[in-house]
Amino acid sequence: MQKGNIGVTTENIFPVIKKFLYSDHEIFLREMVSNAVDATQKLKTLANKGDFKGETGELKVYVKVDKDKGTITVSDNGLGMTEEEIDKYINQIAFSGANDFLDKYKEDANAIIGHFGLGFYSSFMVSKKVEIVTKSYQEEAKAVKWSCDGSPSYEIEEAERAERGTDVIMYIDDDCKEFLEKSKIEELLNKYCHFLPVPVVFGKKTEWKDGKQTETDEDNVINDTTPLWTKKPSELKDEDYKKFYRELYPMSDEPLFWIHLNVDYPFNLTGILYFPKIKSNIDLQRNKIQLYCNQVYVTDSVEGIVPDFLTLLHGVIDSPDIPLNVSRSYLQSDSNVKKISSYITKKVSDRLQSLFKNDRKEFEQKWDDIKIFINYGMLTQEDFYDKAKTFALLKDCEGKYFTFEEYQQLIKDNQTDKDGNLIYLYAQNKEAQYSYIEAAKNKGYNVLLMDGQLDTPMLSMLERKFDKSRFTRVDADIIDRLIVKENADKSELDKEKSDNLSAIFTQQMPKTDKTEFMVEAQAMGENSMPVTITQSEYMRRMKDMAQIQPGMSFYGEMPDMYTLVLNTDHQLIKEVMADSEKATAEQLKPIEAEIKGLRAREAALQQQQNGKKPEEIDQSEKDELEKCRNDISSEEQKKKDVLANYGKENSKIHQLIDLALLQNGMLKGEALSNFVKRSIDLIK
Ligand code: ADP
Repeated sequence: MQKGNIGVTTENIFPVIKKFLYSDHEIFLREMVSNAVDATQKLKTLANKGDFKGETGELKVYVKVDKDKGTITVSDNGLGMTEEEIDKYINQIAFSGANDFLDKYKEDANAIIGHFGLGFYSSFMVSKKVEIVTKSYQEEAKAVKWSCDGSPSYEIEEAERAERGTDVIMYIDDDCKEFLEKSKIEELLNKYCHFLPVPVVFGKKTEWKDGKQTETDEDNVINDTTPLWTKKPSELKDEDYKKFYRELYPMSDEPLFWIHLNVDYPFNLTGILYFPKIKSNIDLQRNKIQLYCNQVYVTDSVEGIVPDFLTLLHGVIDSPDIPLNVSRSYLQSDSNVKKISSYITKKVSDRLQSLFKNDRKEFEQKWDDIKIFINYGMLTQEDFYDKAKTFALLKDCEGKYFTFEEYQQLIKDNQTDKDGNLIYLYAQNKEAQYSYIEAAKNKGYNVLLMDGQLDTPMLSMLERKFDKSRFTRVDADIIDRLIVKENADKSELDKEKSDNLSAIFTQQMPKTDKTEFMVEAQAMGENSMPVTITQSEYMRRMKDMAQIQPGMSFYGEMPDMYTLVLNTDHQLIKEVMADSEKATAEQLKPIEAEIKGLRAREAALQQQQNGKKPEEIDQSEKDELEKCRNDISSEEQKKKDVLANYGKENSKIHQLIDLALLQNGMLKGEALSNFVKRSIDLIK
């Protein structure tokens, strides 16, 4: 028997492995199984080159759990190791000194073990003792057994092993007992070894017999050794891709389409990316692109390797050229990775482009589902925007789709305002904004439907990208002012009359938290609605943005501001105006006369003082002016009270306000109930 110390310079390498890799314990199995797979593949290579003349037989890897003994064994019939090889490959941690290891390690826990410098030693994350029993393929080779209990010393002795190959026997630590559960190992094999290129056997297949699950004689192979991405696209049918997708994400709907990636220069990369059908945000979280390295699962966090917006896609990427033993930040600056990322972007945009060109109808059918990916890409990646702007679509409220170019042509004649700005009208909700959409259509305008999650930032971006263009929601103003074609004639309304009318309505508007109403009288033609509620584009859009952009929460806190527009051309409003004039005239007359007098006085006083220097105005003059102003406001308050009192009792006014609110889905609770009661009274 030979004893020795493992060639690690730091005494406490094992505690380090155990402690720091705590969260990634489970990868030990991936490491052991991929070593076993490598051993079988190396043997195959030797056989192909003629260096191994014997029978390779059926190359397989076996994983066994013995709960009683507390062991997990990974066996292979690969090339095995001689005693010298054990010394060289196992005893010397050849590739990186321990200090190196620790240094790199600090950067990124998972990555360092990831590929695969210390692969074998990861077994000590879960084991108190590890044994290797191995027999080399070389003629006359003797079987040897290596064992190590987690201290830096090991033992090596002769052993019995009938056939070529290696067993790695892990004596599982007491605090890692969960790995002795069959279901746990099954889960890990499924996660990490599902597509390994050599059959991996875990127990026997079972079948339902005599009322219970019974083991059969057949090996239970847990992996698919030739996953779809390793095959030639020309040999595959749509159904193959769909089937593979179901295998990857059993709970998901059918994918919309897919892209088979395949390059071997200047880097190696294969894979299949799927555009998923997203039902909810949860789907986006749960299913992710899986990254493989020569069919060994590495991770499902591909940030930095795949462009940000494409991390929302599903599928697999397999590349031996992605450096895995480095930190994420390093990854992003790696030139190979950059090339990979731009290759993938290009592939995706080419595919979309050709789909658009070759089958516009199908592209349109899928647009609503793929729009979120494309918009995300356009918003976050300039080069993708430049490609996508030719095939990205806009959809109008009637469900018609247009490219940017087509849409511009469509609206340019009728929707250009007097300053030469092209006005894109849009709705965010066809139901809620129904009457505004109708009004716009009656004017011959087209209205876009912008109801997607990313539409608000999207239209803000398009406003910047397009020349002289503005996006305006259909309810941002009354129809005549949405697109101002010529300088409007100044309204002929009597100012005092319309001010009084506005004042009456203003005081009857509902007082709700975080909602403010302005009232405005406007001649809008006798066929337009008597009352309309509008909400200015700027403020509303800022608030929309605040919802998706945390940095803008300031706007989120602002009240919603609406304008109630009274159409003074409408018969009903005319009546309200006439009635209220009549009803309040007597009370208002003295007040208005008083105000008139006070204003004249205020003007005269102001005039006097204007001629003087500040130090020449004495206190009594100042006091007089101030008193005059106070008198004016108290008279105005009186006037308001008169108007408010009148409004309070006027059911027509309340009915009009409520109808406007109702049309915008803003009439609720007590106000709604009052409206219903009042309506009943009115028709009684
Ligand atoms: P890596 O796999 O990255 O080389 P490991 O620490 O996992 O690093 O393994 C070190 C070496 O030990 C391997 O390169 C291989 O030569 C040898 N080895 C490990 N496991 C086996 C095995 N099951 N059969 C034959 N050789 C093995």
